[in-house]
Amino acid sequence: MSESQTRPSNFIRQIIDKDLAQGVHTQVHTRFPPEPNGYLHIGHAKSICLNFGIAKDYQGLCNLRFDDTNPEKENMEYVEAIKEDVHWLGFQWAGEVCYSSDYFARLHAYAIELIEKGLAYVEELSADEIRQYRGTLTQPGQHSPYRTRSIDENLALFEKMRKGEFAEGKACLRAKIDMASPFMVMRDPVLYRVRFAHHHQTGDTWCIYPMYDFTHCISDAIEGITHSICTLEFQDNRRLYDWTLENISIECQPRQYEFSRLNLEYTLMSKRKLNQLVTEKWVSGWDDPRMPTISGLRRRGYTPSAVREFCHRIGVTKQENTIEMSALESCIRDDLNENAPRAMAVLDPVKVVIENFNGEMEMLSAPNHPNKPEMGIRSVPFTGEIWIEREDFREEANKKYKRLVMGKEVRLRNAYIIKALRCDKDVDGNITTLYCSYDPQTLGKDPEDGRKVKGVIHWVSVSSGLEAEFRLYNSLFLVPNPAASEEISSTINPDSLTVLRGFVEASLISASCEQGYQFERMGYFCADNKDSQTDALVFNRTVGLRDTWAKTEA
Ligand code: ATP
Ligand code: MG
Repeated sequence: MSESQTRPSNFIRQIIDKDLAQGVHTQVHTRFPPEPNGYLHIGHAKSICLNFGIAKDYQGLCNLRFDDTNPEKENMEYVEAIKEDVHWLGFQWAGEVCYSSDYFARLHAYAIELIEKGLAYVEELSADEIRQYRGTLTQPGQHSPYRTRSIDENLALFEKMRKGEFAEGKACLRAKIDMASPFMVMRDPVLYRVRFAHHHQTGDTWCIYPMYDFTHCISDAIEGITHSICTLEFQDNRRLYDWTLENISIECQPRQYEFSRLNLEYTLMSKRKLNQLVTEKWVSGWDDPRMPTISGLRRRGYTPSAVREFCHRIGVTKQENTIEMSALESCIRDDLNENAPRAMAVLDPVKVVIENFNGEMEMLSAPNHPNKPEMGIRSVPFTGEIWIEREDFREEANKKYKRLVMGKEVRLRNAYIIKALRCDKDVDGNITTLYCSYDPQTLGKDPEDGRKVKGVIHWVSVSSGLEAEFRLYNSLFLVPNPAASEEISSTINPDSLTVLRGFVEASLISASCEQGYQFERMGYFCADNKDSQTDALVFNRTVGLRDTWAKTEA
């Protein structure tokens, strides 16, 4: 297998090594904290491999925690999909799945503790006013007129919020920190807001919901997380993370560390924007094989080890960068080149009649992998009628064309040499049938008279081949950074999907999406896990045999 065997090293692992060496911690405990507001994407895979990978390599623990403080945008479909994706990537969380909502009662108690310490107050300015009062990066903010309320009044008003006696937007709880802080996040951040929303875990118990910054650090502390790893946009929030934990009565003091998020060319990396692609029907769903979601990659034929290898190759740093799509594709290509059985499929078929073939069928054998005899051989029926690829025949061609030309010979993969004799055409001049002869002396050997036949083409028997649909994918976007455009529609590639109908050899009757195949000369494919039935097989092209990005961008 191609997955790198070396243990990764990065700045976070160096910090952990040091913490363990100095006895700061005896066991590492990380967490992966997705918000269940969409399906996971390849960026999340980077975070999963980092957090779960650390737990695995250091014999520590990694929690799966749903950061579920936005009930309107979250649901159980996303919760289930996220669990499936983490498992599929090969990781197991410690104990039960955790939810931030498990801690709503404790979070509420900590909020009261802050109020009692004079460190939080109930705000009644509107959202707009709060924004105006907050100031800018160059100007300090102003104090809200409600900032100096008494502790008792704040306690009473917060209780009123909890009981649903304030309408949404009419009151919120804010931390009392520093309206002049150079870090905007420290200018009296909102801790709680009113939302009359049904929650997928807590139902209608609450109508006040804690904000991310308040929830996250406390959840980490409750779970005994040692290293809380997140992406760089939370760098400033670390101040609030530490402030909150320092000001409540909680033992554990997790540390937050930030790394740069994965950006990938020609795709989007945000659940909100991916959701838009789904709801506006630019794709067939979250698992459309063109999506950068883990479920999309799975349906496309990516293997868990190829995704992990990708995360290993890109590494973990603090430098913002954008990875080329070819880097992801080369991981799955390397994996499948090594591990995928070979098979033959004709995607755009034209019929060939082999005139001197007598008998019904001859069973030939073909290796499943050219360099791996241990992968075995399979039977390939050879018959008097076969399909070949339309583009593999020309009536006339120059010497560079190493396929079948009228009057000339070519080798059929795993079979005989054939010679093109004549063809039938329809009224539009398209070839409908090609008539050939075959040389029965050429199975597995060159012609004895020394004729040189260079080209090799693939084929499928007409009588035993199975009908199949082939879905060939291209980038969903025409531009390297679609996130920079306001309008999705102007960046969408109208040719991101091509559907062809042809034939595959009979051995593929039981093909599944977990098993990738190399269709000789045509690329790597897997059976579609949703639309494939035995009477109508559907194959997704995972990736071509060679990198085509260099060519496209030139
Ligand atoms: P999105 O904008 O896609 O919803 P998010 O950061 O809001 O991303 P979360 O569900 O909060 O999504 O993410 C869970 C974890 O995955 C977080 O720790 C987050 O930092 C990490 N993560 C999200 N996107 C990326 C990315 N592109 N690269 C690396 N890690 C990421
Ligand atoms: Mg988010």
